[in-house]
Order: sequence, then structure tokens, then C-alpha cells
Amino acid sequence: MDDRAFRNAMGKFATGVTVITTVLEDEAHGMTANAFMSVSLNPRLVLISIGEKAKMLDKINESGKFAVNILSDDQKDLSMHFAGQIKEKRQIEFDWINELPVIKNALTNIVCKVHSKQIVGDHTLFIGEVTDIVTCEGAPLAFYEGKYSKVFS
Ligand code: FAD
Repeated sequence: MDDRAFRNAMGKFATGVTVITTVLEDEAHGMTANAFMSVSLNPRLVLISIGEKAKMLDKINESGKFAVNILSDDQKDLSMHFAGQIKEKRQIEFDWINELPVIKNALTNIVCKVHSKQIVGDHTLFIGEVTDIVTCEGAPLAFYEGKYSKVFS
């Protein structure tokens, strides 16, 4: 099996799309991610997976906190921006919850402090303990076989 076959197989799992956000020395940072899952209700825990080359990794390691922002189907441009797929610079205005930047009008902002972490292969799994949640109505942005799609239209 080569890497392409592995990637193609993983791409068969349809997901939503999130932007992970954090802040370090008053500077907000965002990164698109679809490796996200809910882990536990009591205590309330979620999981994200951050690649070893992502700038986000050191930022969460240092800040000890992050937010998961689940994107709506009209936020594809934000997903592309925070994945570095759009080259032009863009000023993003964040909302703030408990001194953490979050994406405006996302379906959900899930604010977490790092509960624990585990380096696994070339990624770090962060378990976040959820401290605040804001939800909005709307339909989710979906990602399948490397492409964005709308699921409820
Ligand atoms: P950068 O590449 O520096 O930042 C990403 C982009 O966000 C840049 O364009 C930057 O200018 C912009 N940006 C950051 N902060 C701000 C700010 N404050 N204001 C304005 N712009 C800002 N990678 C993973 O590790 N895990 C995943 O689960 C994952 N899932 C993905 C899912 C999808 C659908 C896609 C498309 C990509 C995914 N990636 C994932 C890849 C990841 O999004 C990219 O590798 C990303 O570029 C890594 O970001 P970075 O932290 O290195 O920072």
C-alpha cells in the first residue's frame, strides 16, 4: 500500500470541517482541521489531531488552550483560507470567548483547555476539556474525497 492509497481510503470518510483557533502573546492563529471527534460526556472532552509541521502545534503546546469552530456551508472560503489554500493575505475579525479567538457565525464554537496530549506518529492528539460552547443555526460544510460539499441543500 502506498501513501496515496492510504489517503484515498481515509478520504472515503465524510466529515464536517472545523477551524481550530488559539492565541499566543495576543496573536490569534487559525488552522483548518477535520480530525475532530467528541470523546466523553462526563467530563466533557473532545479530540483534535495536529500535524508535526503545523505552526498550530507549538502554539497550542504553549497556550494550553484552543477552540474548535465547526464551519457552516457558506464558510468554505474560511476553510480554504485557514488551510493556506488561498495565497492572498486576509484580515480576519474574530469573536472572543474567555480570551480565546473564535470564528464568527460558525455553527459551533467549542472552547477548550488542554486536558492531555499524546504524540502519535507524525501528529499530536490533543484532548480538550470543554469550558464554553456557543451554537448557531445553519447547515454544515462537508468534506469528502478531498472536496467540499453541501450535505443539506
Ligand atoms: P499556517 O499555514 O501559517 O496558517 C494557515 C492559514 O491561516 C494561512 O493562510 C494563514 O495566513 C492563515 N491564518 C492563521 N492565523 C490567522 C489570523 N490570525 N488571521 C488571518 N489569517 C490567519 N492539518 C492537521 O494537522 N490536522 C487536521 O485535522 C487537518 N485537517 C484538514 C482538513 C481540511 C479539509 C484541509 C483542507 C486541511 C486540513 N489540514 C489539517 C491541513 C492544515 O489546515 C494546513 O496544513 C494548514 O496550513 C496548517 O496551518 P499552520 O498552523 O501550519 O499555519
